[in-house]
Amino acid sequence: MKARRLEALVAGEKTSDGAGVKLTRLLTHHWQQRLDPFLMLDFFGSDKGQDYIGGFPNHPHRGFETITYMLAGRMRHNDSVGNVGMLHPGAVQWMTAGRGVIHSEMPEQEDGLMNGFQLWLNLPSRDKMCEPWYLDIPNDALPEWRSDALCVRVIAGEFEGVQGRVVREATQPIYWDVHCLSNQPLSFERALPVGHNAFVVVYEGEVQLDGKRLPLHHMAVLANDGDGVALQLEPGCRFIVVAGRPLKEPIAQYGPFVMNTRDELMQAVHDYQSGRLA
Ligand code: MN
Repeated sequence: MKARRLEALVAGEKTSDGAGVKLTRLLTHHWQQRLDPFLMLDFFGSDKGQDYIGGFPNHPHRGFETITYMLAGRMRHNDSVGNVGMLHPGAVQWMTAGRGVIHSEMPEQEDGLMNGFQLWLNLPSRDKMCEPWYLDIPNDALPEWRSDALCVRVIAGEFEGVQGRVVREATQPIYWDVHCLSNQPLSFERALPVGHNAFVVVYEGEVQLDGKRLPLHHMAVLANDGDGVALQLEPGCRFIVVAGRPLKEPIAQYGPFVMNTRDELMQAVHDYQSGRLA
């Protein structure tokens, strides 16, 4: 295996979204081409209710998928398709907006720790107007691979024969949440498809790549110069590995709509304003 090198370490932007939820946008607009098919990655994390209490009231999406992974705290989802879901710690919500969804994502707690990730995964042009789709994966139903030293929660893709619940032919996403259970330093080496764009985000403990420590809550972009990822893990660390096959199609974004052309964006805005999006 030829390990991919570290190409960039991205601190992200402190911002707020929805009704004032404080978050760190790790994958910003700037990285959309480079990390195709991924469009956005937010890390939200706070133990202060005022940082998240406003939640994300009703808002639309069209043209892509959102994957929410809760690490701590509880959020309730409601959408125009009629789906209602509660996200508990360790749960995943996979929503394909397709031609249009209007939804809300609201905290079910007033204080205490709330943190997690929301990743946006693009849809190929041919699927952007597909019917919306939705899957809640509760914590105890998320596929896992375990050894004495490692727990890998498989949100997408495959790890040592354990297959994630959602498969996407066009983008072939891989999304692992890795916990080091060992009480000794450990090396983590796994194959990643050569053409996939990939990144790692450490959210607990210490992880090194090429002998360089990856700071917490930074996006470590992996160069496309190898066929695997190699990391050095310290006991207790936790991190996500995300990779996907680029679509190589034009990306046109206006807020919560991601299409291929400006005309399609204008159509999305028009459909939303006239009540025909969802
Ligand atoms: Mn949303």
